[in-house]
Amino acid sequence: MPHCRKTAPKAHAEKHLKTNDNDESAEDEIFPRRLTEGYENFLGGRFPRERERFETLAEKGQSPEILLIGCCDSRVSPELIFDAGPGEMFVLRNVANLAPPYQPNDDYHGTSAAIEFAVMGLKVKHIVVMGHAQCGGVKAYAEMQHDPYMRPLAPGDFIGRWIKLLSVAAEKLGAPSEPLHNWAELLAQESVKQSLKNLRSFPYIETLESRGRLKLHGAYFGVAGGELLALDEKSGEFRQVAAEAHKRALGAAPRF
Ligand SMILES: [Zn+2]
Repeated sequence: MPHCRKTAPKAHAEKHLKTNDNDESAEDEIFPRRLTEGYENFLGGRFPRERERFETLAEKGQSPEILLIGCCDSRVSPELIFDAGPGEMFVLRNVANLAPPYQPNDDYHGTSAAIEFAVMGLKVKHIVVMGHAQCGGVKAYAEMQHDPYMRPLAPGDFIGRWIKLLSVAAEKLGAPSEPLHNWAELLAQESVKQSLKNLRSFPYIETLESRGRLKLHGAYFGVAGGELLALDEKSGEFRQVAAEAHKRALGAAPRF
């Protein structure tokens, strides 16, 4: 949306001169200060180090091999967890990391559009659905199942309907049991399995997977302990990835 308050910054600056205030809030109004600082750090470190890579990516376009479907939750940034550089992962984040079933109709399908672009346009070789512990979206669904008077995460028109995508996975688990947070963790993992099933309802995904040109994976990130689990679809079990390295990391002294 274009900025329409052309005179506001000047008035704001004058007010600050009068009060001897610094100009941090004025800057914050145009762009969040935290992001400017982060960007300055990027300019001082990662950008010069990876400048060539950015230039090549700009010239030749992106060709990531992995589509990662994760949650919007600010604690589970895929680029951070997987130490990914520019151009390496095509990341799709939504509330509760859900892949919907293939349902072409007149609705706005943001998630399905990104899946279609990654698979058909970018020709990714892997799709990873990554769930996580303490997911607010999954917790809200669990609470709503437990208590029908409970409302979804926030009042509004979209979240309640969106997290209904969890209902198929929830039916497989049976009625919510106490403690509810344990049931919610089971639901988060079951929902990763259901999202993989939904992805396979996209005809081109099913075809590419059967031809061995696309692989689907499920994962689960523990947040507090930093453990990562990967789904073994044959057994239906989640198994820890890089267990030795994780053990070493937990034992390592914090670096300052
Ligand atoms: Zn989440």
